[in-house]
Amino acid sequence: MKVVAMAGGTGSAKLLRGLSRLPVDLTVVANVGDNFWAYGAYVCPDVDIACYTLAGKADPRGWGLEGDTFEALGSFASLGLETWFRLGDRDLAVCMARTEMMRRGSSLTDATDRIRRSLGVRCRVLPVTDQPVETRLETPLGDLHLQEFWVRERGRPAVRKVRYEGAARAKVAGGVKKAIEGADRVIICPANPVTSVGPMTAVPGFIGLLSRTEARVVALSPMVGRRPVSGPAGKLLRATGVRPDSLGVAGAYSRFLDALLVSERDAPLKSSVEELGVKCALTDTLMRTPGDEARLARELVEA
Ligand code: GDP
Repeated sequence: MKVVAMAGGTGSAKLLRGLSRLPVDLTVVANVGDNFWAYGAYVCPDVDIACYTLAGKADPRGWGLEGDTFEALGSFASLGLETWFRLGDRDLAVCMARTEMMRRGSSLTDATDRIRRSLGVRCRVLPVTDQPVETRLETPLGDLHLQEFWVRERGRPAVRKVRYEGAARAKVAGGVKKAIEGADRVIICPANPVTSVGPMTAVPGFIGLLSRTEARVVALSPMVGRRPVSGPAGKLLRATGVRPDSLGVAGAYSRFLDALLVSERDAPLKSSVEELGVKCALTDTLMRTPGDEARLARELVEA
């Protein structure tokens, strides 16, 4: 079975670990909206956390490499640079290597492929597009990059508007198109609908690919009740006029979604989700252990 997994950051990484243990041919399509320039290097948090997790090298805190050191960051601080964006030494080396490969003419797709191979990751990891797409938030502090909003400002500013800069000019990467067209199943990992899935579906042609594919398109909801399991998804759904719960997620994805796995605690939403034409399966949606990751991966492949 050919499975394409659309992935954002931390929640997605847990499910990717579960999927990688199933006997399926897995391709990861990663969000690029939170890519960011830091310390002269091009940082791709979602692409990298997918690679680090699949290589068994991710730090349990949810970003970076396990056991990494922070010497470079200390030097940047003593040189007077702002260091609110934390990046370990080996993580920085990966980002600098990518920057150098791209400076010499590689696409982000090719640079990612070299990086995932060097880490020993067997499945393909594909950025959704090779063109820059940046999630930007309009706040009382001004127009902020997602990382400035979430990391520097700790998600505190009110959000008036979200936009995906560059998306209109971006193209779905060739490998992504091929993978979705040839897939038996597309799985939308638990990801922030606004900052992880939104930048992917904002790339012209991506929604068409998902709607046309013969593959069943299934998602694991990141929401339990009116709250996300973690992160700012609730606040950002509200800011974009979407109900901050699994019914809101189903509505946002209904153009291409066949089935949604929803927390048992949200059983009262089931009939409303199904009225949108989306099959709603109730389950324990929390991934606390590798056992949960594997169980949910199986349930999604079977949903
Ligand atoms: P974030 O919002 O910045 O964290 O961006 P991500 O795209 O990385 O979002 C991860 C999403 O996964 C968040 O909306 C979480 O609510 C969700 N999440 C994290 N852990 C779990 C989990 O164990 N189960 C489910 N269903 N969702 C999760």
